[in-house]
Amino acid sequence: MRAIIVGAGFSGATCARCLAENGFSVTVLEKNNTVGGNAFDEYKNGAYVHKYGPHIFHTQKQRVFEFLSRFTEWFPYEHRVLANLNGTFIPVPFNLESLRKTFPPEKADKLENALKRGYGENKKVPILELKKDPDKDVREFADFVFDNVFRFYTEKQWGRKPEELDPTVMQRVPVYISYEDRYFTDAYQYQPKRGFTAIFEKMLDHENIAVELGCDALKRLSVTEDGVFFDGKKTDDVVIYTGQADELLHYRFGKLSYRSLRFEFRTVKNPFQPAAVVNYTVSEDYTRISEFNKFTCEKAEGELSEIVYEYPLEYETDRGMIAYYPVANEENVALYKKYANFVAKHKNFYLTGRLGSYKYINMDVAVDNALTLADTICKEAEK
Ligand code: UDP
Repeated sequence: MRAIIVGAGFSGATCARCLAENGFSVTVLEKNNTVGGNAFDEYKNGAYVHKYGPHIFHTQKQRVFEFLSRFTEWFPYEHRVLANLNGTFIPVPFNLESLRKTFPPEKADKLENALKRGYGENKKVPILELKKDPDKDVREFADFVFDNVFRFYTEKQWGRKPEELDPTVMQRVPVYISYEDRYFTDAYQYQPKRGFTAIFEKMLDHENIAVELGCDALKRLSVTEDGVFFDGKKTDDVVIYTGQADELLHYRFGKLSYRSLRFEFRTVKNPFQPAAVVNYTVSEDYTRISEFNKFTCEKAEGELSEIVYEYPLEYETDRGMIAYYPVANEENVALYKKYANFVAKHKNFYLTGRLGSYKYINMDVAVDNALTLADTICKEAEK
């Protein structure tokens, strides 16, 4: 049994490992010269610098935590984010502390009571739901949060008005009716002790796995009505593709939208900012600044600190850009379905991952989906 896997990120590497452990002979084709996809990181000045933007591991899924724990030790890490509102730092997700920092005490008391009455204590409420509240004061509060935390950041990040996006995008960051100040509240919240790249190196280190780095799979793989072709020959091998479906199929149904990012890395005096990530929600062209030593295992005691600014931009083909985010809206999802239906004719071909499935998923979901996919493929192979 042979499998060809395109992409050595979370999805591809997880599939590779599981299939290899079930007797498949696996070839992984990775276009970068490094493994790990966009989770690739490198050690510098006491921190793991995430070359393709900050990656924070968190999950509710025990099996994902257990699977990844085979390849790394962890250190407990709870992510906290502040928004910089013209020099005032407030917790994001917007919580009762943020409320106290932005409203006078009496008004804040009144709003806190109204929120607790309407939704209950310790609840998380999507901002778009809050904006429809029957209470005028709560609606005004929601408009304030929307205007100061969501509107500008979302327009920068997506290059689109918030209403042009699927509501699930902003639902990732609800308003907390509590003093909870962690960005995530999942049961498992850790960072890998020796960085993310080390996870991939270990995961792919298996006698049944061969990794080809610097390999442009599009030159070797094609999918047509007649089948899946590899190196010029029709193949019945299992093929898992974690890249962009529209690119693989030469845009036959049209281009899918993606967002890209330009990163500006800097080495600065330590410490640089009051949180691991500071979001710029009312000013600046960049969306956020991450300071890596705040989410690396070692104590951030050095003189220097590594930081990165993120500038979002629209992904364009043939410009050497990287597609980081699928743009979730009805039109794009409908277009993606055409690609998914086209390849579904070939029983040995699978699309997965954030790009392959065109879903804005986190790394834990990518791993979870890959575990399920590998399981399905193994069961098929047994038949
Ligand atoms: N968001 C926002 N303001 C913030 C944080 C998030 O408007 O301060 C919105 C924005 O649309 C963003 C989405 O919520 O794209 C999801 O945020 P998340 O932090 O999950 O984005 P990621 O880390 O995946 O880029």
